[in-house]
Amino acid sequence: MFATLSDRLADTFRNLRGKGRLSEADIDATAREIRIALLEADVALPVVKEFVAAVKERARGEEVSQALNPAQQIVKIVNEELVTILGGETRRLRYAKSGPTVILLAGLQGAGKTTLAAKLALWLKEQGKSPVLVACDLQRPNAVQQLQVNGERAGVPVFAPSPGNGTGDPVAVARESLEEAKRKLYDVVVVDTAGRLGVDAELMQQAADIRDAVQPDEVLFVVDAMIGQDAVNTAQAFLDGVGFDGVVLTKLDGDARGGAALSIASVTGRPVMFASNGEKLTDFDLFHPDRMASRILDMGDMLTLIEQAEKTFDQEQAAKAAGKLLGGQGEFTLDDFLEQMQQVRKLGSMSKIMGMLPGMGQFREQLDNFDEREIDRIQAIIQSMTPAERANPKIIDGSRRARIAKGSGRQVSDVNSLVDRFFEARKMMQQFAKGAMPGLPGMPGM
Ligand code: GDP
Repeated sequence: MFATLSDRLADTFRNLRGKGRLSEADIDATAREIRIALLEADVALPVVKEFVAAVKERARGEEVSQALNPAQQIVKIVNEELVTILGGETRRLRYAKSGPTVILLAGLQGAGKTTLAAKLALWLKEQGKSPVLVACDLQRPNAVQQLQVNGERAGVPVFAPSPGNGTGDPVAVARESLEEAKRKLYDVVVVDTAGRLGVDAELMQQAADIRDAVQPDEVLFVVDAMIGQDAVNTAQAFLDGVGFDGVVLTKLDGDARGGAALSIASVTGRPVMFASNGEKLTDFDLFHPDRMASRILDMGDMLTLIEQAEKTFDQEQAAKAAGKLLGGQGEFTLDDFLEQMQQVRKLGSMSKIMGMLPGMGQFREQLDNFDEREIDRIQAIIQSMTPAERANPKIIDGSRRARIAKGSGRQVSDVNSLVDRFFEARKMMQQFAKGAMPGLPGMPGM
């Protein structure tokens, strides 16, 4: 899901890498690329327009952060805007204050409603609830039986019209199910309704009648994320015909585009509450806009890192180091090296930080083996140097190395490798200073 969008956005961000600041032309070009990425992913046009306008405005605006380079800032803005169009904060189910909570499911036939009903019931059971499934889809042949089979798999009771009463009235079944729930102390009633292949007035009316009969606490609109732009139109029709409180996206495991799914919350003003991503009953969970956005951006936990960097970044210190790297204000010294390493360490454990960076999966083993005490050892070595040596590491010759090793309780080879790494890091930082990423010095031991 969203693979196309992810790839496109990744290209866009890649093009920004190495830029010191964004010109008006950069922002325009970026906005254009984001627009194409969203349109190609099938996001509805009005949503695209609003999205791109917001990104542009914010990229131009003065929320420029010292802690982030332009590419990271754009990632951050796009991420936040994605979260917004997906509905903002995670929206949780509202349970009734007294009596059973009633959840009504509505949607087209084939949307995955019946499957979803069982998934939701299982999920509710795992939340400690005692749900009952209600078969009010008396239209589709076998729908009742399918619900019974799924209910059994989920270990959840199913309330259905008695056999021989197969052409019964779904409104009556729904009403009776509430009595049953009160009698048997079920605390959540999940009502599956009939769907049609297309939106039609009779279907809407039936769902609306059931709604009036059971007064649901939540009406959930179930929609197949793979149906493309139609998803938005269907959602609008259900909003007008039945009304709903939240959206459930199904088959998120399917399509590579799926942008329509991204549009529904924005177009209808109703949040996505659950997502279903497979045929198994457990392929289902609460929908978290923020997690979905970072999955679309495919940035590992880069976004977490961005957040933490912003929180702990010491502007003054970084400006000093950057100034030195860019020349003019003296050279980057071992003191700066140590200071930077401590700065990074403030973000969390080194292996955790490195693990958050995208593409680090391949270094998993080294990360797991990384010894956090390495930084303490480096600190001990640097602190055994004289101020002159720290300021100008080039003077650290053989006899000085032996003295430093002895002073810090390390081997000469440790001192050698630290000095080597320092020069490497300095080279790397000079490259970073030209654009890439701020503030990450050469990682020891890597
Ligand atoms: P209903 O007509 O809305 O009740 O839809 P069903 O629950 O019968 O689902 C229609 C088809 O979609 C069935 O073959 C389901 O197995 C399948 N389906 C439902 N949810 C998902 C999902 O999240 N992922 C995939 N891949 N298939 C699903």
